[in-house]
Amino acid sequence: MMRCMQQTSTPRSPAVRSGDLVVARPEGLYCPPGDFYIDPWKPVGRAVITHAHADHARVGHGHYLAHTDSAGTLRARLGDITLQTLPYGEAILHHGVRISLHPAGHVLGSAQVRLEHGGRVWVASGDYKTEPDGTCAPFEPVRCDTFITESTFGLPIYRWPTQAALFAEINGWWRRNVEEGRTSVLLCYAFGKAQRILHGVDAGIGPIVVHGAIEPLNAVYRAAGVALPPTLRVTDPGVDAALLKRALVLAPPSAQGTPWLRRFGNNHSDAFASGWMQLRGARRRRGVDRGFVMSDHADWPGLQRAIAGTGAERVFVTHGSVAVLVRWLTEHGLQAQGFRTEYGEEDDDGAPAEVHPHLRMKDGVPPESPAVPAAEAPGVPEGGEGPGTPGSR
Ligand SMILES: [Zn+2]
Ligand SMILES: [Zn+2]
Repeated sequence: MMRCMQQTSTPRSPAVRSGDLVVARPEGLYCPPGDFYIDPWKPVGRAVITHAHADHARVGHGHYLAHTDSAGTLRARLGDITLQTLPYGEAILHHGVRISLHPAGHVLGSAQVRLEHGGRVWVASGDYKTEPDGTCAPFEPVRCDTFITESTFGLPIYRWPTQAALFAEINGWWRRNVEEGRTSVLLCYAFGKAQRILHGVDAGIGPIVVHGAIEPLNAVYRAAGVALPPTLRVTDPGVDAALLKRALVLAPPSAQGTPWLRRFGNNHSDAFASGWMQLRGARRRRGVDRGFVMSDHADWPGLQRAIAGTGAERVFVTHGSVAVLVRWLTEHGLQAQGFRTEYGEEDDDGAPAEVHPHLRMKDGVPPESPAVPAAEAPGVPEGGEGPGTPGSR
């Protein structure tokens, strides 16, 4: 079904030179015939947003187009924006470009953007994950001529455990802590990761307490029909020392070292859930007892499967291990090249400094906040994977 994109006063695009449906501009990835951007990092007139993580969905655009399920998180983060939403698979026509959104399996509402114009089909995938997790529509390969892929975990060392194996580990850790009368504190990003843990964990083991940064996002997921077990806030009646000894506590990484977490005293076990936990030393550098390898991004085999599934002959690679993935694709007969972007400051994209010196670990702190300048990030000392929240740890 076709609908018309709401028109604003954006001027018509300049002449298309290369014929490419997406080109890199200083403001972001730009579609010349459609005169709009995809996940731009500078304010533009018209933006198609793949998902609501802070590095992909920024403030200041004149008009936003995103998946229906992104409305809650986008409005919560960006306030009163001019937002048009679209369900998966439904198309709109804008300046002759047919735009449709398709599941990316990354977080609630995450979408790949399919563009069709002049007989060509391009897909910009934003962030994606190939294994279904039950909290968002599973990734769907979309046939195209040209595919734009992320490469956050684009190295052969990254291979995720199955969902079943991951949750067996998390449940086992929590159960043992309950038996030994210890609170289980699990650090995870507030949007996406926390809800996956809630959805996948065995809620029969004990009560679940969540940090104040997480609960509003739980509400958005529940409103979208995602089954999450009951959650408590530390301030709720009945949340006392006895309850906390059996509880699983979810908190964002930025809560590490804050009074909020210090309330659990020494009688707790802490853990961190991230794809980076696959790296040697990552758990120790985080200063936690346990590391669970859990990512909302595709692992190395997932990236390969996803790219092959599109049938694309041409691939553009964005944020992550760009050079490695470009070389691998080229060796396998595809035309591949990198796109320089400013993604990678939220969620698992926030790579430890020693892996991706150009990336800053933000710990969920908005990019606008006055943290350490990027130039200083590579020199982050032992014990800090990035600037994080000033005074944290
Ligand atoms: Zn993301
Ligand atoms: Zn990203």
